[in-house]
Amino acid sequence: MKKLCFRRVGCVPAIGLGTWGIGGGYWSADTSRDVEWVEAIRYAVERGVRLIDTAEMYGGGHAEELVGRAVKGFPRDDLFIVTKVWPSHASYGEVLKAAERSAARLGTYIDLYLLHWPSDVVPICETVRAFEALVDRGVIRFFGVSNFSLRQLQEAEACAKRYEVAAVQNHYSLYNRRDEVDVLPYALANGVMYMAYTPLEKGAVARDRRLAEIGRKYGATPAQVALAWYMKRGVVPIPKAERREHIDEIAGAVGLELSEEDFAEIARWR
Ligand code: NAP
Repeated sequence: MKKLCFRRVGCVPAIGLGTWGIGGGYWSADTSRDVEWVEAIRYAVERGVRLIDTAEMYGGGHAEELVGRAVKGFPRDDLFIVTKVWPSHASYGEVLKAAERSAARLGTYIDLYLLHWPSDVVPICETVRAFEALVDRGVIRFFGVSNFSLRQLQEAEACAKRYEVAAVQNHYSLYNRRDEVDVLPYALANGVMYMAYTPLEKGAVARDRRLAEIGRKYGATPAQVALAWYMKRGVVPIPKAERREHIDEIAGAVGLELSEEDFAEIARWR
């Protein structure tokens, strides 16, 4: 399985599976399709997608439960499990409790624990202090932030005393390249793992005509070209998919190596 290496986390799977919508929605569980969802996640892992992104908010914790069921019995060291704490739980004590609950639902430790959104109420240093305590306790291996500007990321970094802020997860896609201005170059230059969420723009990128044209040369789909482009850029995309044909496409993107010319051509698109 292809990996991307970052100074602060080491080498991690180059692509992940998103789980927003699996097991319910915003703080509400849906158990009606559990068998299908567990099979979909397991299928992705078997096809080589070894990073899974979830959150306590997704289905009010049910997405984490389904991830836990899906990865049961799979060699743990081969997986990289990412989950997130909601800002309403950003205080020192709440972070500790939320992480324990997430780890219990997942049935395992958390590789990377992110603050899902900045908190308006709790100072970031308080949250980071709890993250450091969780590393000491072995509940999480690394921590990071999500939906943070460069200034906010640097504030978080300044709070970290014993460990580093290892990752940032932001919205990044070929249709949303805002982070190229500052967060992305900063992350790449400083060994921060950059995770791109909504990389397919909910499927719109998979219908892009220009990507289809480039993909024809490689026998690849537009979604695969986009995903390969992110990985070549040093970014870990986390597309969400539950249909088998989509999971096959995502897993297949890992083997796609774009030429320097095609990479540069796509980079120029605006
Ligand atoms: P996305 O990955 O851009 O798009 C997901 C949609 O694309 C699904 O409807 C999926 O269909 C479809 N799809 C997948 N592969 C496809 C393919 N090869 N061809 C055509 N369509 C395809 O959007 P997202 O779910 O918003 O983002 C991905 C993940 O990022 C989330 O699941 C979540 O884990 C994370 N995220 C994080 C935040 C944050 O605040 N940190 C915010 C948003 C998302 P099927 O499911 O039907 O297969």
